[in-house]
Amino acid sequence: MNMKRIAVITAGGDAPGMNAAIRSVVRTALFNGLEVMGVERGYTGLIEGKMRSLDIRSVSGIINRGGTMLRTARCEEIKTNQGIQKAARTLRTHKIDGFVVIGGDGSFRGASELYEVSHVPVIGVPATIDNDVFGTDTTIGFDTAVNTALFTIDRIRDTATSHERVFIVEVMGRKRGFLALAVGFAEGAEFILVPEIKFNLASICRKIKLGRKNGKTSEIVVMAESAGDSSLIAEQIRKRTEYDVRLTVLGHALRGGPPTAQSRILANQFGALAVHFLLEGAEKSMIGIRGQEIVRADLDDSWTRKKDLDMQIYRLAEILSF
Ligand code: ATP
Repeated sequence: MNMKRIAVITAGGDAPGMNAAIRSVVRTALFNGLEVMGVERGYTGLIEGKMRSLDIRSVSGIINRGGTMLRTARCEEIKTNQGIQKAARTLRTHKIDGFVVIGGDGSFRGASELYEVSHVPVIGVPATIDNDVFGTDTTIGFDTAVNTALFTIDRIRDTATSHERVFIVEVMGRKRGFLALAVGFAEGAEFILVPEIKFNLASICRKIKLGRKNGKTSEIVVMAESAGDSSLIAEQIRKRTEYDVRLTVLGHALRGGPPTAQSRILANQFGALAVHFLLEGAEKSMIGIRGQEIVRADLDDSWTRKKDLDMQIYRLAEILSF
């Protein structure tokens, strides 16, 4: 098929580097003689037919900005047959020959279902702070969120040590613990709580007490929001140890901010390759990075298969923090 016009969308939760990815898609496409349309407000905008033409200057000054200039939304209607039909109609009406979806596994599930109806070739560009997409070692935005968390927890460590406190720090991760594990490992957190691994509060409290006997002056517990009720956990540790325990929920603060170099570089590369895959005739794929290599991955694997947490890192974190 002779590719003339493509569309780009951001869906699901925003991630720092989405803007850089949009810029890369737009400029690579224009460089190769394609027209580019931007879908506004995720799948909600696609269903409503909200698209605008993007030129070279429309993506100026965004490489360093978090969020997404196209905006995004959580859209329930796209999960229904009627929603998919409406979205497919928008692609037809605007004569879209190729579609680039920037988002996470939920967005790719929607993209895959849309492809089955519209037959418009689709390429997924993984961008989520959760890094929970099968088929790629990392995602656009993950490195930024890890560094944003470290920036704050380094400061929490200072006050925790001064006051000899235990701090529970909750980070995002609705379903998985990739962000908590990376943050905890890089921070030297004494405990990392993730939904994938059972933990025992009695043994955590015993270890905290033992650590204090051995000269520890503070403890940081990094936990994923899906690992349990953080205020309950803080309360139980307080009761069992009788130490001063505080809770900080980092929440949405981890979503925004300027993307790190790694998130921008990934976004530049993923976005450009997405356009090249479309030009080469790819029908349904995802971009991924494995080791140092940027690869073509299976779009359906991204949401049907479960990415494993790195248990070696988890065990090493345990050894190094005591
Ligand atoms: P993140 O995890 O970073 O928020 P995500 O893409 O996984 O990214 P979701 O909210 O799970 O975020 O999904 C994004 C969007 O993809 C949803 O708002 C919805 O529009 C669409 N989507 C999710 N699940 C499905 C599904 N089962 N079928 C069709 N579309 C879906």
